[in-house]
Amino acid sequence: MGEVTPAMEQIVVGTSDPITPRYPGKLCDPQTGNLVYNVRKMAVPWRTTSHDEQGELTYKTYKVAIVGTSNVPFWRRKDFKPVVNKAIDWGIQKYGKSHLTIVSGGAKGVDSIAEECCRERGIDFMAIKPEVEQWKDSFGKRGYRTRNTMIAKTVCKLYNFVQASTEEQGPKCKHCPGELHWRSGGCWTEETASQLGTTTIKVIVP
Ligand SMILES: [Zn+2]
Repeated sequence: MGEVTPAMEQIVVGTSDPITPRYPGKLCDPQTGNLVYNVRKMAVPWRTTSHDEQGELTYKTYKVAIVGTSNVPFWRRKDFKPVVNKAIDWGIQKYGKSHLTIVSGGAKGVDSIAEECCRERGIDFMAIKPEVEQWKDSFGKRGYRTRNTMIAKTVCKLYNFVQASTEEQGPKCKHCPGELHWRSGGCWTEETASQLGTTTIKVIVP
């Protein structure tokens, strides 16, 4: 399995997992990316609080992105799921289950694995989808570039899960010269988040 973080590894290994009841996660509207049950959440940037009209505190969340390659063949999901779950474990340890929202891009591959893990574990999940299936925006509708930037801007931490390539195959990702993994749009999002000062972790899944 790929590296997640050494510190996290310690925490996870030291935990004897008690059996806790599972509740379904609060999922977003897959078309708009808005959370179905509370659309105001969408506008709340990470690490801030939200207030209702009376000035009462209504919400506080920490958003952690889980992005990565959209190309995960079915037989490889078993390799990706445990490491994605470790990233979720880290978020729970750090922020608490009820204050964690996992953010992804609503695509195939890692995005769908992140959604599946959140459903299974009852973790809040938010997909920020593109409105048009192309890199650039078109007639005011967001493409991949704007979607990826939105993800980068909205999270306090980002995990990027990519697929390892072999020595013989060589580096395959144009975003990451010299690194042995296959290309992933998640690497662009990772770089953008990193430039914004967000902690990013790349996990190369062998
Ligand atoms: Zn890359």
